[in-house]
Amino acid sequence: MKYISVLGATGSIGTQTFEVVRSHPEEFRITSFSFGSNIRIGKELIEEFQPKFVSVATKETAEELKRTIQHPCLVYYGEEGLLEVASDPDSTILVNAVMGSIGLIPTLAAIDEGKTIALANKETLVTAGHIVMDRARRNQVDILPVDSEHSAIYQCLNGEKKEEMSKMILTASGGSFRDKSRQDLQGVTVKEALNHPNWSMGSKITIDSATMMNKGLEVIEAHWFFDTPYDDIEVVLHRESVIHSMVEFLDGSIIAHLGTPDMKVPIQYALTHPERLDVQGGKRLNLVDIGTLHFEKMDTKRFPCLAYAFEAGRTGGTMPTVLNAANEAAVDAFLKGMISFLEIEKCIESAMNRHEVIRKPSLDEIYEVDRTTRHFVQTLNV
Ligand code: NDP
Ligand code: MG
Repeated sequence: MKYISVLGATGSIGTQTFEVVRSHPEEFRITSFSFGSNIRIGKELIEEFQPKFVSVATKETAEELKRTIQHPCLVYYGEEGLLEVASDPDSTILVNAVMGSIGLIPTLAAIDEGKTIALANKETLVTAGHIVMDRARRNQVDILPVDSEHSAIYQCLNGEKKEEMSKMILTASGGSFRDKSRQDLQGVTVKEALNHPNWSMGSKITIDSATMMNKGLEVIEAHWFFDTPYDDIEVVLHRESVIHSMVEFLDGSIIAHLGTPDMKVPIQYALTHPERLDVQGGKRLNLVDIGTLHFEKMDTKRFPCLAYAFEAGRTGGTMPTVLNAANEAAVDAFLKGMISFLEIEKCIESAMNRHEVIRKPSLDEIYEVDRTTRHFVQTLNV
């Protein structure tokens, strides 16, 4: 039996994590979880999984939740509540599926407790990859990728020598606007941007997919996960999302990971590694039906956010923190209808241009840069 805590329980990855747990009750048990403000789903999960305690975003939500639930569990709130869940002494695995760099401190707390981390929250590694990976190494803690590309690479490298890898190739579906020119992107709506062709995901990551920032964040995530130089990371456009990513070796051989676009597969793999279980209700790939796969060069003029991410990653220090914080603030403003789609990338570019990089930032310096960058973007007159 594996005992699991979940951050971001009511989200896209969170609810799919509960589906995995629900379909293998003999393998997994939920001990605690957190969510933001979705009391409806949160309450259902509490009654079904009967955790010892939960955490929500605010005191008000905590009060309301306490009045609604029948199962007697403690209800914490705020950042302290996230820390309670991350360091739950009864769990051995933390699934971090909260959205945004708010997931950083809980990740570090879980590492300090020696828990295995199943990491969906990519902003954690983008913002403070050097601190997270160093702390995990020192505590001999495994961080297992939930993101499908990184799970694919992890599996491609299984049993291989990392030193014999010549490059990793991340695939990108192209997001909701892959067939639109930059001209066409003027004036696209939030609703159009939220309509992803292949994957069903939370709203922030769906917008990140449309701007290609999601792939940019994944490049930085891959750099930290696999300790790979940016020159050895390539991104190709692959519309079908059948190949989730690939690794090329010194002899030119390429190992690819194929699968259906179903996040339950990488979530479950992170929970069962090194074993595998069936994915209930999971579809199988029918290669004959698929017939043909397509690959195209990524055009960084069309998708400048990918170029910004490579630049931030190569610059290092606090620049990835700025990239991430500016993106979070800009996507939030777009989702609220305050800026246009193309202004997202302008916000990120402006924030990066004005930033003076701190080379080896401490956690406090990362926080300060994260905070000032968000403030800059919020007040930016784009
Ligand atoms: P969602 O927006 O669907 O879910 C986010 C979760 O975080 C919700 O449970 C939400 O609670 C909670 N949350 C948000 N803000 C707070 C807060 N201030 N305090 C406490 N909880 C909060 O996101 P996704 O599931 O799509 O993504 C989660 C992470 O996984 C992201 O980092 C994303 O990049 C990554 N990821 C997602 C993939 C996907 O397929 N969705 C694929 C690969 C990576 P509530 O809704 O109750 O307010
Ligand atoms: Mg991904």
